[in-house]
Amino acid sequence: MQIRRLRLSGFKSFVDPADLRIEPGLTGIVGPNGCGKSNLLEALRWAMGENSPKSMRGAGMEDVIFAGTGSRPQRDFAEVSILAEQVAGEAEEVEVVRRIERGAGSAYRINGRDVRAKDVALLFADAATGAHSPALVSQGKIGAVIAAKPAERRQMLEEAAGIAGLHVRRKDAEQRLRATETNLARLDEIIADQD
Ligand code: ATP
Repeated sequence: MQIRRLRLSGFKSFVDPADLRIEPGLTGIVGPNGCGKSNLLEALRWAMGENSPKSMRGAGMEDVIFAGTGSRPQRDFAEVSILAEQVAGEAEEVEVVRRIERGAGSAYRINGRDVRAKDVALLFADAATGAHSPALVSQGKIGAVIAAKPAERRQMLEEAAGIAGLHVRRKDAEQRLRATETNLARLDEIIADQD
C-alpha cells in the first residue's frame, strides 16, 4: 500500500483544511518546533484507527479536535482522510476517512461507505501497515524497539510481515467456532430429549 495523500480538517493545530501530497520514496517532515510535525504523524495513525488518547498526547479522544486560540474559536469536529493506492494485482485507490464530533465519538468511512473501526484496522493490517505499524517512526520509537520485550518485538515483526490481520481473523473464527459448538451441544440435548 502506498499512501498518496493526507487531508486534515480541524485536527489539532490544522484548523483549516490542509492537503499533503505524499510522493513515492522517503518522506521527511521538517519545520520549527511546535509547527505540527508530530500532529501530522498522529493524524495518520488516528485515521488508521488509533484508539489511545494517550498516544495522541491527549486526555480524551476529543482533544484531537482544534481547541481554539486567542483569535479563532474551537471546532466541533475533526476529520482526517488518507488516500492510498493498493497494489493487489493492479493498483486500486482507497480512501479512508475518520471523523470525530464533540459528544458523538468517531465514525469511519472506506470509499464513502460507513464501516466499523475493525474494518479499517483489518484493511491496514492486511497491507502490513496501521496505527501501530513500525513503518511510522515517531520520536522515541527507535529506543522503544531496542528496549522491547521479545514478545513485543515479535508483534512488531509480525506487523511488518503483514500477518497481523490473520491473528484478528483467527480470533474471530475461534469465537464463531465456540458459538457453533455450543449450538451443536444444545441441539444434541434437544434431540436426546425427543428420543
Ligand atoms: P517539536 O519539533 O517541538 O516536536 P512539532 O512540530 O512536532 O514540534 P507538534 O507537537 O506536532 O509540533 O504540534 C504542537 C502544536 O500543536 C502546539 O502548538 C499545540 O498547541 C498544537 N495543538 C495540539 N493539539 C491541539 C488542539 N487540539 N487544538 C489546537 N492546537 C493544538
